[in-house]
Amino acid sequence: MLKTDTIDDRAWTPRPPRTINDQGLLCSDPQETGNALLSRLSRRSRQNLLERCENVDLAARMHLQDRGVPIQYAYFIESGAASVSTRAGDCLQVEIQTLGKKDFVGIPLILGMRISPHTCTVQVPGTALRIRAEALIHVMTTDREVEKMLLRYVQATLIQSSQLVACNSRHSLNQRVARWLLVARDRTDSPEIGITHRSIAQALGVRRASITDTFAEMEAAGLIRRSRKHIAITNEACMAELSCNCHRVIQAAHENSLFGNPGLHIERR
Ligand SMILES: [Zn+2]
Repeated sequence: MLKTDTIDDRAWTPRPPRTINDQGLLCSDPQETGNALLSRLSRRSRQNLLERCENVDLAARMHLQDRGVPIQYAYFIESGAASVSTRAGDCLQVEIQTLGKKDFVGIPLILGMRISPHTCTVQVPGTALRIRAEALIHVMTTDREVEKMLLRYVQATLIQSSQLVACNSRHSLNQRVARWLLVARDRTDSPEIGITHRSIAQALGVRRASITDTFAEMEAAGLIRRSRKHIAITNEACMAELSCNCHRVIQAAHENSLFGNPGLHIERR
C-alpha cells in the first residue's frame, strides 16, 4: 500500500489572515477567494464563512480526511486537486470523486454525520480554506443561503460518484484516463496538471505500468506532453473525443451546484 501522510494540527502552518497579503499589505478585497462555491455566495454569506476560515497549504499525498475518523475540519479547496477514495479489498484504494477549486471536503457534516466514511488525499499540491466542523455546522444552521449551496453540492457529488461507478465498470482505461485528465483540468483550471503516474494509477485503481503505457500512446498521438511530475493536455478537442461522456456529466452536475440551475444540460453522445 502506498505510504501517505496524515495531517494533524501540528502539520499545518496557517498562512496570514485573509486581509493581509504576502507583502504584509491589506488586500483590496478581503472576500476574494479561489474557491468557486464560496465566490458564488452573496457577500454576507461568504463573509459568514470566511471569518471562520483559515488559509492552509495542501501538500501532495496529505490526508484531509480519513475513513472511520471523526472530522475536525471541512475544506474549501482554492487550488490543486484531491481524491476521495474508498477501499476495495485489503489495500487497494479506488477513487470515487476528484476534487479541486470548485469543491468542498466535508460532506458528512452537511448530512449530520461526524465520522468520515472515506479518505480524502491531496493529489496535486495547492491551497484551501479550512473551517472547524462546529463552525461550519453553526453557519449552516443559521444561514439558509449557505445551507442551500452545500445541499446542492451534495447532489452534485452523488451524481459524480454514481457516474464514476458506471465509468469504472463500462469504459476502457484510455477513456477513463482521458476523463480523469479532463476533470482534473477543470478542477485545477489549468492545462498542466502536477501529478505523478503513480498517483493517477492509485486514483483509478490500476497498475502504474498501465498508466505509463496509456500516457505513451497519448503522447505519441499529440494529446499530452509529460514530464516526471506534470501532465499537460496539448490537444483538448482530441482528448475530449477519446474520453467517454462521463466528464461532461460530472461538469454539468457541478455547474448546477454552483449556479443552482433547476436542471442539468448534458450533451448526448
Ligand atoms: Zn466514463
